[in-house]
Amino acid sequence: MLTPNDVVNQTLNHTLLREKGVTLSIKRLDLIHPQVSGNKYFKLKYNIKEALSKHHQTLLTFGGAYSNHIAATAFAAQKAGLVAIGVIRGENIQPLNPTLELAQSLGMNLHYVSREEYRKKTEEQFQTDLKRQFGDFYLVPEGGTNQLAIKGTQEILTPEDETFTHIVSAIGTGGTIAGLAETVKKQQSLIGISSLKGTFIHQEIQNLLKFYKIEPKGSFTIFDRYHFGGYAKYKPGLIDFIWMFYQEFGIVLDPIYTGKTAFANWDLIQNNYFPKGSSILIIHTGGIQGNLGFIERTGIKLPTLSK
Ligand SMILES: *Cc1c(COP(=O)(O)O)cnc(C)c1O
Repeated sequence: MLTPNDVVNQTLNHTLLREKGVTLSIKRLDLIHPQVSGNKYFKLKYNIKEALSKHHQTLLTFGGAYSNHIAATAFAAQKAGLVAIGVIRGENIQPLNPTLELAQSLGMNLHYVSREEYRKKTEEQFQTDLKRQFGDFYLVPEGGTNQLAIKGTQEILTPEDETFTHIVSAIGTGGTIAGLAETVKKQQSLIGISSLKGTFIHQEIQNLLKFYKIEPKGSFTIFDRYHFGGYAKYKPGLIDFIWMFYQEFGIVLDPIYTGKTAFANWDLIQNNYFPKGSSILIIHTGGIQGNLGFIERTGIKLPTLSK
């Protein structure tokens, strides 16, 4: 496992970039750990610290059956010596998919609830029932976004990154982009690519920034047209792009978040969105563990290991 200090910005070489007069680098958070990887490391960091300092023995969180957050929480909890409980949306399907297999092998206790029940996960009664079942626990919300998560994602950008003109990252719950918004400098532009379908995301991010009292210093733009049909949906163009990116640069992207983000960024470059002289940094937020499950689920081949 790398420490975040070892994270490198890899500069990409391509004729399109020379033609358009821009530079493109990618912050390889995916290299922090082959399974945990990416932004989830940062989102969990201070939550784990808090759980330990409050003398909790158990960490409980929620997620779908292919969730990067579930995989990351299982790993982080094991490393911290905490018992992990994953409340999983849907039925217990055997054999386990690669994500749940990984989580279980890391010692996570998987607890399945129906989709209907899962919707009640933020209700007090639901959590009281869980406490009756599992005893006291430190709760990490679905997707991992809370105040401490945002404190963690504020550490993704470092002072060396101040020379970039544009910072580009994926949006799911928005915890990562909120942390980035706090750290970008006033001369920088932050660009978020929504992985979800719908214009609601603009308001949702506004609410999140307001709730956590974050005022982006630079400009902040969200694109909501690169979702490929919605969360975890895909189209052949996205799969082709992931293969192109792998062949050109040796870097694996996932189809849920980073594939859509890199695709969007490439499309924006092609369409002259970035002025000549721009230096763009894409955050590779990880998520590669999900590729195995995607391949199994869809029968579509994807790269799984960066060169
Ligand atoms: C969870 C995740 C995201 C989204 O992060 P949010 O903080 O929820 O917006 C982006 N990329 C990857 C790979 C993820 O696993």
